Amino acid sequence: MEIKPFEKKVWLSSPTMHGEEIEYVKEAYETNWMSTVGANINESEKAVCAKIGCKDAVALASGTAALHLAIRLAGERLYGQPKTAKGVLEGKRVFCSDLTFDATVNPVAYEGGEAVFIDTEYETWNMSPAALEKAFEIYPDVKLVVVAHLYGTPGRIGEIREICDRHGALIVEDAAESFGATYEGKQTGNFGDYGVISFNGNKIITGSAGGMFLTNNLEDAHKVRKWSTQAREDAPWYQHEEMGYNYRMSNVIAGVIRGQLPHLEEHIAQKKAIFERYKEGFKDLPVSMNPMDLNKSEPNYWLSCIIIDKDAMCRQVRGEKDALYVAEPGKSCPTQILEEIAKYNAEGRPIWKPMHLQPIYRMNPFITEAGSGRARSNAYIDEGTVLDVGLDIFERGLCLPSDNKMTPEQQDVIIEIVKRCFE
Ligand SMILES: *Cc1c(COP(=O)(O)O)cnc(C)c1O
Repeated sequence: MEIKPFEKKVWLSSPTMHGEEIEYVKEAYETNWMSTVGANINESEKAVCAKIGCKDAVALASGTAALHLAIRLAGERLYGQPKTAKGVLEGKRVFCSDLTFDATVNPVAYEGGEAVFIDTEYETWNMSPAALEKAFEIYPDVKLVVVAHLYGTPGRIGEIREICDRHGALIVEDAAESFGATYEGKQTGNFGDYGVISFNGNKIITGSAGGMFLTNNLEDAHKVRKWSTQAREDAPWYQHEEMGYNYRMSNVIAGVIRGQLPHLEEHIAQKKAIFERYKEGFKDLPVSMNPMDLNKSEPNYWLSCIIIDKDAMCRQVRGEKDALYVAEPGKSCPTQILEEIAKYNAEGRPIWKPMHLQPIYRMNPFITEAGSGRARSNAYIDEGTVLDVGLDIFERGLCLPSDNKMTPEQQDVIIEIVKRCFE
């Protein structure tokens, strides 16, 4: 069969609108609630609380803003409020997910802290509890852990919670990608001391932008609302006793989110169907889908990813900004597959490049299950010994087009393109 490029681009994950969104945006316009106050904000916060099962949710400009304020809050609780504008984590180490988007960890640096990256486990592609345990052996003074759930698949958050409790550490839970996913029946975002979700344009529910801070402590919610609106004190003038930010969500954006929220389960069902179709389509290829523990968790299937078997990898070299591969019969690599997909006007994406390999974080500590690791260019020292799980997943994995609006016929074409890479 001859494959023709898609006439309309098939996206990795693009916004899926339903019509209610524009009605709430219109309502904001017609009632002139065109600022960071209004019914769309209040109703979206309420709906998210009801879904997650947390006591309060604070609508903010982005998931990154929510992470920043969560980390600020955790830092103040642990180390007190700094007297000056200095970061609250100045000189402190914080354990962080390594295989993630940099928004998870940057707020640690905004507050002057040093991220210590914790290696990933193969079972969920999330933080390895064994590596975290190791990290507490090496740095017993650490009191804060920032943990993400990648691609909509919950990590072992129950075990991580237990380890943190034992060491008296707080958790900031980055559920930006996993809104609607559950672990042991409980929503992600509700396991940490502070939780975060995102409504960025490519997330499962979007406002075009936006995020929420989640908590079970009403005082925390009050603080975050205050900080996000420049930390104004109750005084006739602008009186400031604390550091403030302009991080509150717009009521216009909240209108989009309010209209999207009733469609979360529908989006999850669509994403799950996409995942299952890929899984079936690839059953004879030397690849596997991104792993999940279905006994313990129900993912939201945000992105469908594959990882290529080790012995089916052709040679691939990645520099800082470009990549090369050597084509081989029966073998392929993420670079080849992504280039082929792009040729046909579809969008895939490499796995997040691990944080400990990023130029800005290359000097930060990195802890694997075996103990102290270091940045290297290859995941293996000798055959079979994996020294860096995150790097291995980065080298062999990729994200496939996972857009809700992709038709089964379009997806079959993507499957065929991938199959041909292994011919
Ligand atoms: C999208 C994302 C964020 C940031 O959310 P924004 O709303 O884009 O600021 C944080 N962490 C992870 C893992 C994400 O995927």
